[in-house]
Amino acid sequence: MEKDRKTLDERQKMSELERIRHSCAHVMATAILRLWPDAQFAYGPPVENGFYYDLECSHRISPDDFEKIEAEMKKEIKANHPFERIEVTREQAIKDAESGRLGGLSERPGNPPRFKLDLIQQIPEGEPITYYRNGDFVDLCAGPHVMRTGNIGAFKLTSVASAYYKGDEKNPQLQRIYGTAFKTKAELEQYFKMLEEAKKRDHRKIGAEMGLYVIDTEYVGPGMPLWLPKGTVLVEELEKLAKETEFQAGYVRVRTPHLAREKMYRTSGHLPYYEDSMFPPMELRAEGDSSNREEDAQERNASTSQPSNDSTKYYLKAMNCPHHHRIFAAEPRSYRDLPLRLAEYGCCYRYEQSGELFGLMRVRSLNMNDAHIYCTEDQFADEFNAVNEMYLKYFKIFGIEKYVMRFSTHDPARLGEKFVNEPELWKKTEDMVRQVLKDSGINYVEVPNEAAFYGPKIDVQVWSVIGREFTLATNQVDFAQPARFGLTYRDKDNVDKTPLCIHRAPLGTHERFIGFLIEHYAGNFPLWLAPDQVRVITLNDDPKLIEYARPIVNELRANMVRVDADFTATPVKAKIADAEQARVHTMLVVGPRDMEAGAVSVRLHHGGPQGAKPKGEVIADILTKIRERRA
Ligand SMILES: [Zn+2]
Ligand SMILES: [Zn+2]
Repeated sequence: MEKDRKTLDERQKMSELERIRHSCAHVMATAILRLWPDAQFAYGPPVENGFYYDLECSHRISPDDFEKIEAEMKKEIKANHPFERIEVTREQAIKDAESGRLGGLSERPGNPPRFKLDLIQQIPEGEPITYYRNGDFVDLCAGPHVMRTGNIGAFKLTSVASAYYKGDEKNPQLQRIYGTAFKTKAELEQYFKMLEEAKKRDHRKIGAEMGLYVIDTEYVGPGMPLWLPKGTVLVEELEKLAKETEFQAGYVRVRTPHLAREKMYRTSGHLPYYEDSMFPPMELRAEGDSSNREEDAQERNASTSQPSNDSTKYYLKAMNCPHHHRIFAAEPRSYRDLPLRLAEYGCCYRYEQSGELFGLMRVRSLNMNDAHIYCTEDQFADEFNAVNEMYLKYFKIFGIEKYVMRFSTHDPARLGEKFVNEPELWKKTEDMVRQVLKDSGINYVEVPNEAAFYGPKIDVQVWSVIGREFTLATNQVDFAQPARFGLTYRDKDNVDKTPLCIHRAPLGTHERFIGFLIEHYAGNFPLWLAPDQVRVITLNDDPKLIEYARPIVNELRANMVRVDADFTATPVKAKIADAEQARVHTMLVVGPRDMEAGAVSVRLHHGGPQGAKPKGEVIADILTKIRERRA
């Protein structure tokens, strides 16, 4: 389904770029009407990276038509018509729609804009009905727009697709024309250059070249990657990094099963609100030996609030939080136990629509760099700050230079409806989060009315080196779940209190983070992360050379370096080309002169020859670079 209608308030917050793009959609509609006067328009919003307009038209528009449409658009931009806002009564709007004037260049008797008529009906009573007019084209629109068509600096139509009206397949199927626009021509060109580069760095292409993962749709299922040995290296190096970092930050590790009973997700509220995103339940029939039945019965008695048939339904977990909450609940907790930081690289399953699955970026099985921090209100600011610092540490390791934390807050007008009804806690936690963000000098923006149901959240967006944006992870402050699960700790004053919970996952999921890293590094991973770290290559297959080279391989391997050897008679040039092709990070080439000098010649993938150095020095250097996770 399409997103809710934007409120007027949300519309006023449209950025300048969004106004340019949305204005460009009106200009595109103008051009299309000049070429195909029977066109009927529906929605034309700005979207990430551009805009679209949905339309119905007897002519099937294809990319071959783009040049023609763009030429008409240029005329409209050159004419520099103002975008004129016109407020009308409901009666007037319906009259203009029926005459065909609305959504057209002139009156179109017998061709009233049926989608616009429908949209008029949806405008709430009391909200103004407005048109925007540029030149001859009059469109039903709440705005906002740029001042004049000439403010659209540069644009390009990009693709066609089809879409149901309002995203509902019971409605007519429309043609969707996508385009993008920028303030300047240089920015437009930069954008397409970035897309070109992103195509070369496509994680699906590089993932296949390097043998990192496969998706075996036939036997395993769509959206469930199998990590091949080289991809598993990436997964395990990331886990190692997370484990070390979290250990140093005072986290403890836990492990939980992939399933839980229905009761778990009723309590968490995932059921029924999140049910569409979960795999359907497994129903276990109450058969088997009597001791099992007794056990079940006992458990049922212990939880009298629960209908008895719950005990036979299990769900794959879509999130790790509920399991961690039950670990918190497993022992009596005192204020002395807090903060309690439970960490797990937990495997979750989400039922994404098959049309939305995309390589590693949108999957159905995901391994999350998860942790839940249970703390008191007094401890919150320090804990939250430490989480932010962990992010910054990771950004440094991965050379992520551009990022923004989107801090989503609640709307007091929608308490008890969109947001859990805890006005004081909302205010208190949001103030604390805001203060920490300010004090730490972290780059953040505040987005009102977009918090999650049970607390403010922070989405972390990062840009890869080529300038593409990724949403990496979400941090969440949660003051509802601990209460739903009845979690308490005994405070200093001997009173039981509910802890706050911070959900955090700085490295997101393995799937998405590795997808990002593949693009970020174009597959040329730093030494510590590279699936193939070192290859020792002899100039030829002279046994003396091999005798000299083999202990180098052995010593590296004994130090846990991923090293292999190429001692074959193949010409050394071809052996080096082969290693380069395989993206081996460091090549150690050994010839007779190296052997005499007790040296090796170092060559770096994407770095070329580095000259000969004493072998002991080279080995020590490799070990240090790996240990320090140098870029
Ligand atoms: Zn508009
Ligand atoms: Zn969580």
